Amino acid sequence: MKKEQNFEKTLPEHYEQVYHLNAKDVKMGLILNLIALIVFIAVMGAAILVLLLGKISFVYDPIIGMIASGVFMLAVIGYIVLHELVHGIAYKSLTGEKLTFGFSWSCAFCGVPHIFTYRKTALIAICAPFVVFTLLFLPLTAMLYFVNPLFYLMAAALLGLHIGGCAGDLYLMALLLFKYKNSRLLMKDTGPEMTLFVPKEP
Ligand SMILES: [Zn+2]
Repeated sequence: MKKEQNFEKTLPEHYEQVYHLNAKDVKMGLILNLIALIVFIAVMGAAILVLLLGKISFVYDPIIGMIASGVFMLAVIGYIVLHELVHGIAYKSLTGEKLTFGFSWSCAFCGVPHIFTYRKTALIAICAPFVVFTLLFLPLTAMLYFVNPLFYLMAAALLGLHIGGCAGDLYLMALLLFKYKNSRLLMKDTGPEMTLFVPKEP
C-alpha cells in the first residue's frame, strides 16, 4: 500500500468532527493517570500474590537491591522514550510525514500533526507500543520469576506501568475498533490532542 493512501494532507470536504480527546485537559489527564495507577496496583498485587503462593525463599542483598533500583529507574525512563518512539516509527513508516514529540503535565506524546490519517493507519500507530512492550515485558517478568524475586517484581512493575500508561492508547483503540468503524474515518493526532472526523451522511 502506498503511503499516500494512508492519509490526507487536508481534511476532505463533507467531513465532520465526531470526537475530540485532549490529554492536557485537567479532567481527562487526571482520569487517565488515575486509571494508570489502578492498573499498576492491580498488576503489582497479582505479581506479589504469585510470589507469595510460590513460597520462594529470598535473601535480600542491599547492594544488589541498590543496583537493581538504579537499573529499574533507567528502564522506566527508557521505556517512556521508547514507547513514544514506537508510535513514531509506525507513523513514519506509514506516512513518511513530519512527527512531533513532547511532554505535557499528564503524559509524554508523539503525533503527526500536519496530516489526517485513515482509520487503519491510526489504529496501527496507536496499538504499536502496547503490542510491542506487552510481548516484551510479559515473558521477561515470567522469566525473571525463576531468576530472582526482586528482579521479577521490578519487571512486573515495568509491566504495570506500561499497561497502565497505555490507558489513553487503549481507550482510543477501543473507540476506533467498536464505535467508529468507518474505514474512511480520519484522525488528526497532534500528540496530546486527537480529533476524529467521518464523512457526513448524504
Ligand atoms: Zn502511547
